[in-house]
Amino acid sequence: MKKLNRKQFIENFKSNLEQKYVKSFEDSTKFEKYHALSETIMDMISKDWLETNKKNRTERNAFYFSAEFLIGRSLGNNLLNLGIIDEVKEILKDLDIDFDEIEDEEDDAALGNGGLGRLAACFMESGATEGLNLHGYGVRYSQGIFKQRFENGFQLEEGDSWVARGDFWSLRKESESQIVNFRNFKVKAVPYDVPVVGYKNGVVNTLRLWQSEAIKNDGFDFQDFNDFRYDESVSEKNRAEDITRVLYPNDNIRQGKLLRLLQQYFFVSASLQEIVQKYKRLYPEDKNFSQFHKYHIFQLNDTHPVIAIPELIRILLDEENLSWDDAFGLATKVFAFTNHTVLQEALEKWNLDLIHEVSPRAVDIIKEIDKRLLESLQEKGYSLEEMEPYRIVKNEMVEMAFLATYVSTSINGVAELHTIILKKETLNQWFKLYPEKFNNKTNGVTPRRWLQYSNPQLTAYIDKLLKSEDWKHDMTKLKGLEKFADDVKVLDKLNEIKFEKKVQLAKYIKKYEGIEIDPNSIFDIQIKRLHEYKRQLLNALHILHLYYELKVNPSLDMHPVTFIFGAKAAPGYFRAKGIIKFINEISKLINNDSEINGKIKVVFIQNYRVSYAEKLFPAADVSEQISTAGKEASGTGNMKFMMNGTPTLGTMDGANVEIFREAGLENNFLFGRTEEEINELAYTYNPINIYNSDERVKKVVDALIKEERISDEGTNHFLDIYNSLIDPKDGNRADVYYLLEDFASYVEAHKRVDEAYRDRRGYARKGLINIANSGLFSSDRTIKQYAEEIWKI
Ligand SMILES: *Cc1c(COP(=O)(O)O)cnc(C)c1O
Repeated sequence: MKKLNRKQFIENFKSNLEQKYVKSFEDSTKFEKYHALSETIMDMISKDWLETNKKNRTERNAFYFSAEFLIGRSLGNNLLNLGIIDEVKEILKDLDIDFDEIEDEEDDAALGNGGLGRLAACFMESGATEGLNLHGYGVRYSQGIFKQRFENGFQLEEGDSWVARGDFWSLRKESESQIVNFRNFKVKAVPYDVPVVGYKNGVVNTLRLWQSEAIKNDGFDFQDFNDFRYDESVSEKNRAEDITRVLYPNDNIRQGKLLRLLQQYFFVSASLQEIVQKYKRLYPEDKNFSQFHKYHIFQLNDTHPVIAIPELIRILLDEENLSWDDAFGLATKVFAFTNHTVLQEALEKWNLDLIHEVSPRAVDIIKEIDKRLLESLQEKGYSLEEMEPYRIVKNEMVEMAFLATYVSTSINGVAELHTIILKKETLNQWFKLYPEKFNNKTNGVTPRRWLQYSNPQLTAYIDKLLKSEDWKHDMTKLKGLEKFADDVKVLDKLNEIKFEKKVQLAKYIKKYEGIEIDPNSIFDIQIKRLHEYKRQLLNALHILHLYYELKVNPSLDMHPVTFIFGAKAAPGYFRAKGIIKFINEISKLINNDSEINGKIKVVFIQNYRVSYAEKLFPAADVSEQISTAGKEASGTGNMKFMMNGTPTLGTMDGANVEIFREAGLENNFLFGRTEEEINELAYTYNPINIYNSDERVKKVVDALIKEERISDEGTNHFLDIYNSLIDPKDGNRADVYYLLEDFASYVEAHKRVDEAYRDRRGYARKGLINIANSGLFSSDRTIKQYAEEIWKI
């Protein structure tokens, strides 16, 4: 690592400030200083960036296609990865600038919904850190995920114009623009390149995000304007820019909207055209693309970019004049597919008419693929009936996961249990046909952002204990911490660090939520998208149960707990929004009741996002991972908690299974039915029986419609939730996520937490063992497995 030239750095910083704003250093605002600092960092990155680009050109490269990259902030992370964060903090301090305040000026680049988008961002960072030839391709939405705020306990959404004040972490590459042809119109795709800095290794990879713009004159029609047709004069421009205007705010739910498909086609078409062009420039003699597969592998992050398959075939057939067999044969070598969900309501199916609206050729090509699939099955001796479950096109709908599975060389799930369920259920017929294509790649998170950057206190202490920084390059070395498991001085220090992080979080929550919380209480945290399968409602019902217990017995022997929630609900998801309102009502009821001696407090923080997450994970005592077994593909929040020394209170689901295995069940809190048990139960399950036999369940479920101190203000949200649990309408099943089934077990697990927490050192010991065994969940490990086992880069 080069050493930072302090004098030069300060000079560059000041001159950036003077040039950008024509202001003296003393007169500039915090934002202006943030801007100048960002430019200074970008200048420092540029040389390594150019070098990395040059090196990649003639080698085999992997391309990560994803509709979402949930980046968050870049300043702190880039400083950390450049190895200059401590020095820069010192320099700023000498200049009388508070780094925390400067940092807070940066808006999150929130170009994703939740886990899937954040995974893509962690992968890019780990790819650069491992020195892999990995390129990200996605969409530069001008509006990221909406900003959430609560009014009277209801979620309100506001736009997120994250570029409005300027995006200093990307470069517009006008000259590499592409034209994307939709059926009815064309747009210009302009790439914005975001540098992805590897950890102290001089590597800078590229995340390329495409922005949609009008082709001619920026779409401005001067004639219209002159004739006073002001709206018409910009209509072309608006129509083009609409394509990348806004991120769809849906997580794990399909929404078959034309604009969404236009977005998907837009970014994969631009990406593939650019990549094919570059290949032709480099290998002009390879007219039939016979070597293309040796240099390219495209990883499809869920079904969102699967339209890339017919698009590549189209380019090869129509523009490069390849035969069908050559074009299709090439496609079967260069795509790999990651599945992210087993929820039926999340698997994308597109209507043929809609695909026709976007790209008529894609329809021809998909039909041809389906036809050829049937022919090949017929050759293998399949009957019509046996072929049915494989149909890519069914009732005029295209099963995108089937298209991806048929054509790709690799199909992977994102945690061991998830991959098992894919094989035995979701994609079982395909597993029987192509067992060799299926593999598992358990997700991971980057320890730079989620441990080193978010928790410098713990990081410094680990350095001290291990007397080395090797673990920062190989997280499995954290295992060395286990030898301190019974060292009381170490356990006390870990508790001290946790307390410091809790105090910091409490201050932040006071500032942004206006609620006072006690860092001596247990911080029990559930932060993730709001979804019924994630069961925030189960958490809420348990809290209400505890509250009623305390009302009967205010001196109940329990350690005080602060329950913290963070979650956005999709704006059209009525029930999820009802659950938010319900938790906010419980929060108001409990926080204002002086009779319970401050034993419990409930805070639903607003606008949960990456930069808030960085403050929450290190401050947690309990990690709530309580999805119905079999429903959460992996989860990555669970891993961020673990790295920060927080035991998991969770079900045998997703990557929890592997967390429990690595850190030991005795250091975590398992509860609830297993996936197998739930499958067996499914035929006979009747939540009414539990409601009738367990008074505690009856009391909290009834509260939804009978508790007079809480209200949904006549919106019927609470009745809807009540009905979903025990009285569904229209012949639907009740309690499909088995909340009542798992309730008793969940109550009991919380009692175990309460018990365990009283032994302060014993609890710290659990945290320590979790940290020591979190190495498996570094995205460095995951990305190396993709590189070695799928990409061969
Ligand atoms: C990690 C992360 C997620 C994913 O959380 P899960 O608990 O795995 O669903 C979602 N949103 C943000 C902001 C994150 O950082």
